Amino acid sequence: MRILITNDDGYLAPGLAALVAAVQGLGQIEVIAPEQNASGTSNALTLNRPLQVFQAHNVPGLGPGLAGVRFVNGTPSDGVHVALTGLLGYRPDLVLSGINQGANMGDDTLYSGTVAAAMEGYLFGIPAIAFSQVNKGWVELEAAGRVVRSVVQQVMQQVLAAGLSGPPFLLNVNIPNRPDADALPRQVTHLGRRHASEAVIRQTNPRGEPIYWIGPAGDAREAGEGTDFHATANGCVSITPLQVDLTDHAGLPGWRARLAMDGSAGG
Ligand code: MN
Repeated sequence: MRILITNDDGYLAPGLAALVAAVQGLGQIEVIAPEQNASGTSNALTLNRPLQVFQAHNVPGLGPGLAGVRFVNGTPSDGVHVALTGLLGYRPDLVLSGINQGANMGDDTLYSGTVAAAMEGYLFGIPAIAFSQVNKGWVELEAAGRVVRSVVQQVMQQVLAAGLSGPPFLLNVNIPNRPDADALPRQVTHLGRRHASEAVIRQTNPRGEPIYWIGPAGDAREAGEGTDFHATANGCVSITPLQVDLTDHAGLPGWRARLAMDGSAGG
């Protein structure tokens, strides 16, 4: 089992070291993470400049025993993309991303670099899992690591072992920041929805010009039973299987009737 590990908080983030420690012994582990915090970069690829990949040395928690620890001066998706398209020279069996500092639930998944990094593996046909702690601050990170190990072991035993040639999957795991996180029930959920983001924060820079900070994410709007928001708010680890197709399948017939041109109208 060869495991590629990445994140979006940067290669020095405690959550990355916690993820690596969590899966020690489960396979050959290689790390390629962004040089800097790239939270909120979604699936962005860097196309307007070349990328460089550097060996990381003496990073706490990323010690010997790993196949390699590298960082890229780009986005999370850059790192996975470069790794899978030539850098590694082999095809990993599993891509893991995280452990992110803060929840990636509902609409967050569209903006998340953590989810996107895992998604990049998934888009290349490799099973992938994104892990996030619900609250920021790295509180109870070791307990989150125990959840990671348990989930990865279950996936390896019950999914991958059953057929490595099966379809790839993309799981999004959100873990409450609790010391007993590994003892919490796990719920398989669907994504909730958030309210629109809070208002932009307008300030004035030292030159007297207006500047803007993107406001915080909105509160949960659809957070009923079965959602990721509901599960984590009620003391469960949330596991959401994701897909990538953004097509409005339910709306297709209506749009075909309104907009499709079959070429027979003439003119
Ligand atoms: Mn992040």
